[in-house]
Amino acid sequence: MPIRPLLARAITALTLNAFILTVAQASPAIVMTRDAQAAITPAQALEKLKEGNARFVAGKPLHRNLRAQAAAAAKGQFPFASMVSCVDSRTSSELIFDQGIGDIFNARVAGNIIDSDVLGSLEFTCKVAGSKLIVVVGHTACGAVKGAIDKVEMGNLTGLLQHIEPAVAEVAPRFPQRTSNDPGLVDAAAMANVKRALQQIREQSPVLREMLDRGEIGLAGAMVDLATGKATFLAD
Ligand SMILES: [Zn+2]
Repeated sequence: MPIRPLLARAITALTLNAFILTVAQASPAIVMTRDAQAAITPAQALEKLKEGNARFVAGKPLHRNLRAQAAAAAKGQFPFASMVSCVDSRTSSELIFDQGIGDIFNARVAGNIIDSDVLGSLEFTCKVAGSKLIVVVGHTACGAVKGAIDKVEMGNLTGLLQHIEPAVAEVAPRFPQRTSNDPGLVDAAAMANVKRALQQIREQSPVLREMLDRGEIGLAGAMVDLATGKATFLAD
């Protein structure tokens, strides 16, 4: 083939690629697809969450057409990450990490504790539904952690708070007063609780441990500052 048509074809391909890229960037309706999920690595998944949190903190979230995303994702979901976070109304992972519909799974339970039901949920999201990363998200001034420090007893909450008790016991020697009025103790216990959750995921789920050992999924912990929305990843 003569040079000129070849050149023209190459330019057309380049223009088309640029066009697709532009559309992808400008179309918030685009949702995670099976191919996009399969292509992403655990490290890239973590990076996407860090970038999303940076956008949230900067007050510059992506402009998404959520209704269009919902319509597109209705055919199937291919989220890239699985979050375990607190029920706290100020810690929605979709908002804090600036993600849209179909982007992340989110298991929410007071004090972001790990139990067999949460582990079962994570096994589903990773082994069955293809998620590449698990992030346990704790936060400052957590009411559940305060309840565990104060040994609150009430209905089913009593049993839930017992999951947090080991984390409180772990850091309590550094805070002899043991009062939930001490934000230092509350946040130290919340961080210890996240670290314990990461251990529990690895130790109590052979399904997830095998995926972690093979590098098929990643595992990370983060603490969110309620006042700023900034997520600090524990390995950072
Ligand atoms: Zn909380």
